[in-house]
Amino acid sequence: MSELPDELSTDEVIRSLATGRPTIWVRSNPTEAALPDLADVMDSAAARFDRFAPWFAETFPETATIPDELESAFPEARGGMIESALVPAPATQQRLDGLFGSDFVGQLWLKRDDSLPVSGSIKARGGFHEVLEFAEAVAADRGLEAHDPATYSSPQFREIAANHRIVVGSTGNLGLSIGILSARLGFAASVHMSADARAWKKDRLRDHGVDVIEHAGDFVEAVEAGRASAEAAENTHFVDDEDSVSLFAGYAVAALRLRRQFDAAGVTIDEQNPLTVYLPCGIGGGPGGVTFGLRRVFGAAVRCVFVEPSQAPAMFLGVRTGRHSDICVQDIGLTGATAADGLAVARPSRFIGPTIGPLISGFAALPDEVIRAGVGVLYETEGIDVEPSATAGLTIPWRMGDAAAASPAGVHLVWLTGGAMVPDDERAAYVDEGRGLLERIGGTASAIFVD
Ligand SMILES: *Cc1c(COP(=O)(O)O)cnc(C)c1O
Repeated sequence: MSELPDELSTDEVIRSLATGRPTIWVRSNPTEAALPDLADVMDSAAARFDRFAPWFAETFPETATIPDELESAFPEARGGMIESALVPAPATQQRLDGLFGSDFVGQLWLKRDDSLPVSGSIKARGGFHEVLEFAEAVAADRGLEAHDPATYSSPQFREIAANHRIVVGSTGNLGLSIGILSARLGFAASVHMSADARAWKKDRLRDHGVDVIEHAGDFVEAVEAGRASAEAAENTHFVDDEDSVSLFAGYAVAALRLRRQFDAAGVTIDEQNPLTVYLPCGIGGGPGGVTFGLRRVFGAAVRCVFVEPSQAPAMFLGVRTGRHSDICVQDIGLTGATAADGLAVARPSRFIGPTIGPLISGFAALPDEVIRAGVGVLYETEGIDVEPSATAGLTIPWRMGDAAAASPAGVHLVWLTGGAMVPDDERAAYVDEGRGLLERIGGTASAIFVD
């Protein structure tokens, strides 16, 4: 504790975070916060995905037909939709009841972004959107029909695209989504990666012809290097994960889709049957965009809880202290290191905390072994294998218990954020490790603070 600066040590929540123990902060009244003025960018992003659907269907044959589990929610869709299933998870719920020794009264559902088409993580929402927006800007600038999907398969566009570069800094999944889509549109792409990014992600990108630049330091360093390389360069677009409205808008579209999925499943979300959503959080862009969208769509009937690793609770720390990107987890003596590589972020987004922070209903920080054990639970109960980051939210409904300001009844949606691209041998290793940790999943009790 000697490392905690004096002005922070008076806050018992920060003191708990600094110990690395499971810590949950539930806010009693964020539902009254006003929405920032971002509805237009969300609607434009939804329209942009619709415009590009025929291009996706043609370019990625696995998206050409709408999968059965999406058909009832999107009967008009003709293929090329980047969307994932929404499924109830009673077997997982029962198993967690057993592991925690308590019966949870709500209904557990899963959002399957671990299996989003083409890039297998929630980054397919934000990352793809920003690449598509850039493609339309380039096409319009050169006098091509930017709103005609056929433009993007034309030799004229591809020739122009080859002279443009997209640059991004990433722990892995954002780089994958940006790199894969950029390469398919014909853009040159550079992905700056941090030391903790997995080797297979770098290999996969190189297979797509993407330039991968490795950095010895952390995520922030990789982003800074990417930004610096893009600054002076001509025809170069930098995807700024710390500050991007375009990424945000792409993530937010998930909420419009989710409402239709609940409708199709016959589930009404309202104040009698509220929705609580658990979102794994890294820099905050993904969960921030989804939260904005959900609050716009479901109003006060939805509560969003951000979940981070105990050693990297960047957004939790930024919002709780009000210092946002002016504070990092090392400032309270944490390491920033985690097995959940998609969440290995020490300093939060500059944009999300100040704009979306007031809309977030709760924060949780959990040790890696709980996050890794979640992979085992999902495998054994649903036959799903995800990457560790994806499971961060899984135990929170049980950990919050009666302290949940959200009514424990209602729908509890765990957003599974990544997994499908992980190579088989690594996935098998995550599953083995997770199953070995199952009995420890409820292990350390959480410190819970409500205000
Ligand atoms: C990126 C990522 C997140 C979190 O998104 P941020 O925008 O970094 O907060 C969660 N899970 C997975 C698997 C991710 O790749």
